[in-house]
Amino acid sequence: MQHWCLALAALAATAPLTTGFAQPRTPPREITQVKGDLYRARNGNWYTVFLVTPAGIVLGDPINETFAPWLKGELDSRFPGRPVRYVVYSHSHFDHAAGGAVFADTATFVAHENMLRNMDGRYPQMPGDMIDRNDNGVIDRDEIDIPTNTRPGVCGMGPGFFDGIDRNSDGVATPQELQQHIVKPTIVYSDRMRLELGGQVVELVHPGLNHSNDATVMVFPGERAAFATEFIADALVAGNARSLPSACGPFDGSPLAEWIKSYRTVEDLDFDLMVTGHGPNFVDRALVRETREFFEHLRTEVAAGMAAGQTLEQLKASVQLERYKDWANYERLRADNVEAAYRNLLTYR
Ligand SMILES: [Zn+2]
Repeated sequence: MQHWCLALAALAATAPLTTGFAQPRTPPREITQVKGDLYRARNGNWYTVFLVTPAGIVLGDPINETFAPWLKGELDSRFPGRPVRYVVYSHSHFDHAAGGAVFADTATFVAHENMLRNMDGRYPQMPGDMIDRNDNGVIDRDEIDIPTNTRPGVCGMGPGFFDGIDRNSDGVATPQELQQHIVKPTIVYSDRMRLELGGQVVELVHPGLNHSNDATVMVFPGERAAFATEFIADALVAGNARSLPSACGPFDGSPLAEWIKSYRTVEDLDFDLMVTGHGPNFVDRALVRETREFFEHLRTEVAAGMAAGQTLEQLKASVQLERYKDWANYERLRADNVEAAYRNLLTYR
């Protein structure tokens, strides 16, 4: 891991921004109050939330094994006698779900049931078009490097990542090596679940398949707030949440219809303010609706072009998505979104 961190630190010194899932060596960390008893904690461009109750704390993602001990120290000093009682995973990906061990003596770990499938020793669903291309059940160097080099800074990982996860340096990374710092959930649910702690309620909602196949949206009725990662605002989202999605592979291996269903599920939840796993700003339901409309528009335009017999290259030229030209990453990601939608519709038609 050290090699990876050093490589990224060097990269961060020369590159202006975005390295996809990469994090600088010492990311800015802070805790801010969202509303009432709900707080947000930051590790660079990664965010989590926690709810403080008289009986203890409900925490979202632990994020990683260097951030989580820092967060535990902050929670212990700010809220003495209120240990973390639940850790709720937004999804199973290593860049959000690692580090929970420091809370294991007081907390129950909760996730959508597919997280157990993603941690059962088989090749997990991973972000950024990192898939088992040769179907051998382990993570090969190429399976990290191909998406990294095909779409630098968007899909795949930063330089040196593979050497960091190949912990015994045998040339392949097993799923267990990748997930070494992730505590398995001890309670899972399939559709919805309700947590109660210290007189407060947290609703857990599985929205459907999107960036991951095991997403949980947390809803805090007392604060009229929610927390979701990635499919609302992915790792490329910085200041402007109205941003084209990264669109890695055929949209992370989830059918476009499932993406759209995920947004509709969130639109139907009762909240005013959403905290996202990336990006500094909160978003509202209008943003969720607009992003769902983006996906619907993209699907309609690409499907129409395909029905008219256009090739992928013709689609990339003709599907301009003009109404989104003011969204962040329009120039950078428009053609990639068209290609991802094309591949998605071919795969899941
Ligand atoms: Zn993810």
